[in-house]
Amino acid sequence: MRAIVSACLLGKPVRYDGGAKPCQAVLDLAQKLEVTPVCPETAARLPVPRPPAEQRGGRVWLRDGTDVTEDFRRGSEEMLAVARRAGAPLAVLKAKSPSCGVHVIYDGTYTGSLTEGEGVYARLLEEEGICVVSEETVQSCKPSVEHPVAIVLGTGLGHLAKLVKPVRRIDYHDIEGFPESARPVRGHDFEATIGTIDDVPVVVYPGRIHLYQGYSASEVTSLVRHAFRLGCRDIIFACATGAVEGNAKVGLGLLTDQINLTGRNPLAEWDELRDVDTPFVDMSEAFSPYLRTLAQGVADDAGIGLQQGVYAGMLGPSFETPAEVAALRALGVSFAGMSTVNEVIMARALDMNVLGLTLATNMAGSADTDHSSVLACAERYSEDFERLVRGVLRML
Ligand code: SF4
Repeated sequence: MRAIVSACLLGKPVRYDGGAKPCQAVLDLAQKLEVTPVCPETAARLPVPRPPAEQRGGRVWLRDGTDVTEDFRRGSEEMLAVARRAGAPLAVLKAKSPSCGVHVIYDGTYTGSLTEGEGVYARLLEEEGICVVSEETVQSCKPSVEHPVAIVLGTGLGHLAKLVKPVRRIDYHDIEGFPESARPVRGHDFEATIGTIDDVPVVVYPGRIHLYQGYSASEVTSLVRHAFRLGCRDIIFACATGAVEGNAKVGLGLLTDQINLTGRNPLAEWDELRDVDTPFVDMSEAFSPYLRTLAQGVADDAGIGLQQGVYAGMLGPSFETPAEVAALRALGVSFAGMSTVNEVIMARALDMNVLGLTLATNMAGSADTDHSSVLACAERYSEDFERLVRGVLRML
């Protein structure tokens, strides 16, 4: 997988003050990728060292009052051409910089204060459709013993739990909020395993409960809150779905967004939210663009077919009627399932980084769909699914 990375994050002394800002998490990531270093400011042949630059009023100024807007534009366009030649789907850029900053930049007062906005170069890359993140995202997604990766597995996908080198097991019934009476349906196990997969710290939940079994949204999301309490910042949801004819086919999928059609929301039930001032949760990037880009890169490198699409969460347990499938198609839905949406809402409320993977085991609404055929299809794709998840874990 290819990526472009701010040269200063890789330790190259290109900053305005003649220094660098190497980031260990980025250096570690760069070992696993085909990296092209970029620095739009040196590409513009601005002197090093020089006074710091910041954006103000839509232009870029050095602290001594020199307008360097055109230099920043020229250097950014030169580095955009480099990114195009590299064919990189991912850019990791230095946070807050007037050229490389992502979403937040210095505010033009040279006091260290920040404002919403994009660096000149970051904006060009985003317009190009490249996933642009700062080193803060890479650091936030990097697993450790304190911050293992949570993996919640759906119907027929629980075999991944067997890959875990276990340190500790936890019966779901010992998890706060998980219903005492819940028993696993076929294809699910109710014991979480803390341990490692390929030396990456993980907590694997090999099964889940569903709204259609009569549980509340708060109960079905109890595993997410448990993972958060264990320190997990990344959470991978894997679920079996039906592919919506015309938008997807049977096979592995990467969730790009979701539509919650269950009529439930865990945040409307969650006791702790009753005490906070603002229960509103930003869902504009429910599935982490960074994790999605890594997953697609892993799939492409490994020759694994991975379709991208929107997931619709249905209450179930009845499968979709032809009219419902037609409605889902018109809504732009690729995958329909009976889980995940409420868990994703809970994870985002806890500010976790979410990756959604699915196995479309059948066409949504098809007459020959039953639980056995779902399990049989999951078995057929189990090797690719395992390679995909292991590849993503190794990349983090
Ligand atoms: S933030 Fe970007 S432009 Fe500034 S030194 Fe680093 S790579 Fe160069």
